[in-house]
Amino acid sequence: MRVYVSADIEGVAGVVDASHQSPEGGTEYQRARRLMTEEVNAAARAAFDAGASIVVVNDAHGPNTNLLVEVLDERVQLISGRPKPLNMVQGIDGGFDAALFLGYHARPGTAEAVLEHAYLGSVVDTLTLNGSQQGEFVLNAMVAGACGVPVVMASGDDKLAAEVAEMLPATEVAVVKWAVSRTAARTLTPGAARVAIASAVTRALRSLTAAGLLRPPEPPLTLDVRFVKTSQADLALLLPGSQRLDGRTVRYVSDDYLDVFKVCRALLLLGSTAA
Ligand SMILES: [Zn+2]
Repeated sequence: MRVYVSADIEGVAGVVDASHQSPEGGTEYQRARRLMTEEVNAAARAAFDAGASIVVVNDAHGPNTNLLVEVLDERVQLISGRPKPLNMVQGIDGGFDAALFLGYHARPGTAEAVLEHAYLGSVVDTLTLNGSQQGEFVLNAMVAGACGVPVVMASGDDKLAAEVAEMLPATEVAVVKWAVSRTAARTLTPGAARVAIASAVTRALRSLTAAGLLRPPEPPLTLDVRFVKTSQADLALLLPGSQRLDGRTVRYVSDDYLDVFKVCRALLLLGSTAA
């Protein structure tokens, strides 16, 4: 059994605000990346115990160099650094039997959800695919789904759990904290969170089925990126094939989901260069 892990940081137990998210957070970031690494270890060890022959972990947050490779279980293989064409799901392919999304968070606009956003929080207001607002969990799970890989387990706060239950009710979720506001939560301790994560992985990998497989919608696929600022949309429009719907919204249409996913990344990166 081959297991793929996409590891984010906002849904890690104990992580609640911006100081935990980026190296500018100093000692708080250094604590958060260690907590993130140990949650990945808890999941990886449970996966190996359940019979995994390989666990590939993609460092999916911000600088993409958060995970402490020297602290990781030595059987894991780590995808570290950037840029990566498939970003948070780099390295996934049809050779994997299951995917685990760790430390994930709710889509942008979710009320009382710890650090809700999508990809680049200062750039994205909302992302809408075929009329439904989506976030990182669903958009990344559809890349896995396009490769035929089910997302069998996720971890994060209670709002992430609600989002998972809505789209993939059979997917196991380890809730490691309950949001109080965007930057406050009632959290499990790291030790308790690791136990919850390990048992969710064990349950998820015990009997693998197609549950958790999230196929992209039938084509044509219409992605609407609503930017925070009109200047970001101005720059995103440099991408051929993109069209403006209104001051802050840019549309892209394709029949191929991986194309949509990569173009989404390109639109956000272009937008991020705005003053
Ligand atoms: Zn993140």
